[in-house]
Amino acid sequence: MNLNEIKTYFPILTQSVNGHPLVYLDNAATSQKPKVVIDTLEAYYQTYNANPHRGVHTLGVKATDAYEAAREKVKTFINAKETAEIIFTRGTTSSLNLVAQSYVGQFLKEGDEILITQMEHHSNLIPWQQAAKKIGAILKYIPLSPNGTIDLDNVKESMTANTKFISITHVSNVLGTINPINEIVKLAHKQGAVVCVDAAQSVSHFKVDVQDLACDFLAFSGHKMMGPTGIGVLYGKKQILEHMPPIEYGGEMIDFVGLYDSTWKELPWKFEGGTPIVAGAIGLGTAIDFLEQIGLETIRLHEKKLANFALEQLSAIKGISIYGPKNPEQRGGVITFNIDNVHPHDLATFLDQEGIAIRAGHHCCQPLMKWLNVSATARASFYLYNTEEDIEFLINGIKKAKVYFE
Ligand code: PLP
Repeated sequence: MNLNEIKTYFPILTQSVNGHPLVYLDNAATSQKPKVVIDTLEAYYQTYNANPHRGVHTLGVKATDAYEAAREKVKTFINAKETAEIIFTRGTTSSLNLVAQSYVGQFLKEGDEILITQMEHHSNLIPWQQAAKKIGAILKYIPLSPNGTIDLDNVKESMTANTKFISITHVSNVLGTINPINEIVKLAHKQGAVVCVDAAQSVSHFKVDVQDLACDFLAFSGHKMMGPTGIGVLYGKKQILEHMPPIEYGGEMIDFVGLYDSTWKELPWKFEGGTPIVAGAIGLGTAIDFLEQIGLETIRLHEKKLANFALEQLSAIKGISIYGPKNPEQRGGVITFNIDNVHPHDLATFLDQEGIAIRAGHHCCQPLMKWLNVSATARASFYLYNTEEDIEFLINGIKKAKVYFE
């Protein structure tokens, strides 16, 4: 598959928006879907839609097999040790809330410390903030370095004997920073703390290997990796998941139900109460096939090239502030910026009229906006189907907007 021709695999990208060919640069929010993923969903609903794990009839068996095959694909994709470690959820947010309720809420106690950073997405901040409030734990923030990275000395200094849990984003959805998870996990484990990784912005952009990272939990969303909305994954180490209680009770997750007590299925099903997200999981499986056909190394190289090109071009624009690290090794394909005298919402609206989709606002990172001392920013984020030509459209659009607003 040639990346220069890959747009043709994505029906949505061939359209015009507001009279211009669509230039989609909002991939950190959600990615577009290749036709094979859309076809997978259609085939499921047209030919074998059934409730898995229940029916003995042919369609039920087919749906069950496809659902569990998708779990196997996820396991291989992130190199988990066991299939039982892969729990299907609604997305990163659900995965992190599951950990907050079933791990932090159960096993941390008053005075224990939870460490996060100010670059976290609200989904990797509020669950810990609220869990800490409930149990009397202390939420602490590892200070960020001025260029928006995490310095390991600051991690060391933030840790105490009471640090029991750390949750960090792998890649910031605002700064683009790629965080040193391997090193943070080593430091945390030395201290006896458990580490959760928000991989919403990483798993679909470069190879993520949970055994190599050695993290205890890892959360991500299908829709940011060309899969459907409404499906996500929580990876957890089996020996930890085994001790965690379910958070959703009902059908599918039980072993035996009595009048006054019940027992649960084994992993991973004890965490998947109710009818599973079958179409979502199967669609995610196809997205993983597609990603692997191209290769995560190829995608990383392509995005790095695009980010470097965009940074170079954007830096030449007068009055621009670009946030996040300058070193290309330390960042992914997310570029956040502001232009003097042009509000990011005005810029995004102007660019939309040119067929260019970017994001403006706080990007679900209000504490980070506070750290940056801004109320909002503009953000362009790239994926495998973007090209240098897309970036040229963006640059020209910004130049036109400057003339219009100034
Ligand atoms: N974490 C990060 C870093 C994100 O970028 C996002 C989504 O933008 C999330 C978590 C939440 O993902 P979802 O809305 O799919 O649950």
